[in-house]
Amino acid sequence: MKTDGRPSLKTKASTVNAPVLAAEQCYAQPRSIPWLPQERAYELAGVPQFASSGAKIISVETYTKGNTLSVVRVKTDDGQEGWGQMSTYSADIAATVLHRLIASKVLGTDPVTLNDTSDRCVYDNHKYPWSFVCRALSGFDTAVWDLLGKREGKSVCELLGGKPRPFPIYASSMRRDIKPRDEAQRLTTIWRDKKGARAFKIRIGAVVGNNRDQWEGRTEDNVNTVRKALGDDMMLLVDANSCYTPDKIIALGQGLLADNNVCHLEEPCPYWELEWTAKVTREIKVPVAGGEQDNDIAQWRRMINMKAVDILQPDINYLGGLTRTLRVAQMAQQAGIPVVPHAANSSMITVFSLHLMGAIASAGPHLEFSIEGFPAAQGMYDPALKVVDGKVQIPSGPGWGVTISKKWLEGTTYQITQ
Ligand SMILES: [Mg+2]
Repeated sequence: MKTDGRPSLKTKASTVNAPVLAAEQCYAQPRSIPWLPQERAYELAGVPQFASSGAKIISVETYTKGNTLSVVRVKTDDGQEGWGQMSTYSADIAATVLHRLIASKVLGTDPVTLNDTSDRCVYDNHKYPWSFVCRALSGFDTAVWDLLGKREGKSVCELLGGKPRPFPIYASSMRRDIKPRDEAQRLTTIWRDKKGARAFKIRIGAVVGNNRDQWEGRTEDNVNTVRKALGDDMMLLVDANSCYTPDKIIALGQGLLADNNVCHLEEPCPYWELEWTAKVTREIKVPVAGGEQDNDIAQWRRMINMKAVDILQPDINYLGGLTRTLRVAQMAQQAGIPVVPHAANSSMITVFSLHLMGAIASAGPHLEFSIEGFPAAQGMYDPALKVVDGKVQIPSGPGWGVTISKKWLEGTTYQITQ
């Protein structure tokens, strides 16, 4: 029995059928982690150091399309500019947060001090942690990366030491309302046979479904039907979107998923239940993936330290931008865990993620590529991404290597802080 006043971890863990963890596994103890030699080592990002530019950021502008998408332009007093994007899903709220809580922290800063500026935006907003602060920050951060690339005449991928090249994708289905035979049909005839994909992700269970299926028997039918249609030599990934308790998904993982040679089980349990996820990871052979929702660097450190997953899935827009994602990628590299970012639509998030994957040592074998139409992002940037032989070219021009379309900007809601 604990006597230090904290809740008993043993009692709490037992009630949820999760493994009993020592306190040091639940609470951040950076000094005890051999691969994090300093207390704040996670802040020593793999971000390139630039000499002072002598320029100052003078404005932050947003162009917001409904509540779906919002792009950001940052300008400096020497006439340079860069374009970024905030996260999808209530992007209009992210735009408000950017102008209200972020812009005042970044105006007047030298763009090359992005690493410090990014931290200040989080620290100074410690009363409103994560979610929308990070979603808003990601718009500023990605705009500055574009500006830095243009200033150096290099793509972001090259700035980070990578090389623009065709990068493999996995064809990612977002649908649960689709019948298994129809899912198999489009994955094989379009994405395998026409576009050359070699890896495919389908949905199992229901979103945060507490062990419910979308309809009875769908998960088993979907996995069996799609695997049979694809053939044995294709990679099959599944996403449970926080559906299951450990006992249920362990049974599925040892049976259905193992029998169908699934190579990636994503978000098996409610994502905030790291101990549940870690238990699943320990008990099944199918590799477990997670992290798309997480935006707290300390939580990432815990996740990595406790080996909660086999594959890390940062989302550049949810996490607060490329700068913070590079810190996760660096921790992943030190821990020997591959990174397969979350990039669930065809907006700029897929462009950002391609540059990341072209550069980081911890890059996994493929990047998520949504197979669903996304009308709001139609014609958003040029050149559009194209899948050829299962790969997408990492844009090679300066910055992100794409231009936001003037036509797409028409009809958006404009806001400026200067
Ligand atoms: Mg997912």
